[in-house]
Amino acid sequence: MAAPALLLCARCDAWRLLMPNFDDPDDVFFMHLALHQAAQAYSQAEVPVGAVLVSQGRVVGQGYNQTRSLPDPSAHAEIQALRQAALTLGNFRLPGSCLYVTVEPCAMCLGALMHARVERVVFGAFEPKAGRLCSHPWPDDPAFNHRIRITAGVCEPLARQLMQQFFQARRRAATPGLVGFRAND
Ligand SMILES: [Zn+2]
Repeated sequence: MAAPALLLCARCDAWRLLMPNFDDPDDVFFMHLALHQAAQAYSQAEVPVGAVLVSQGRVVGQGYNQTRSLPDPSAHAEIQALRQAALTLGNFRLPGSCLYVTVEPCAMCLGALMHARVERVVFGAFEPKAGRLCSHPWPDDPAFNHRIRITAGVCEPLARQLMQQFFQARRRAATPGLVGFRAND
């Protein structure tokens, strides 16, 4: 599946023209990079989620969902970006960093973000079934001794459209009885 990578930015700019104060310009910039990562996943028939990890104003890690192609159930975009950032910085703790991810993180990824001491998470589309930051919040659980600042809904229309487009295409391509295709994985 070919992803409309260049179109993403043009659409996002159009969205910003409609709502000029909607997002912080830096958040939009880094979310663009995460959306391009998501487009990479899309082009490889992976659920299109992308992430970049920013530390002191520069990208130190990036990644996209690769659970099927690796195959690795933990290869969510957030985990890929965290792994690369930890290698880049030579530290498994990433204090002061910010993760940009196109879709609200799941339980596994939130756990990893907590362990890494990521300071802030900015996400695009809400994940009403499995999202653990806002949809089914965990961050206030007293078991966690770290707090993450959250910004939700940056470039949300693009991130959501990319997911919807992917699952619509996959449903069209799926043949009845085909094992291994689920709408929510
Ligand atoms: Zn996840």
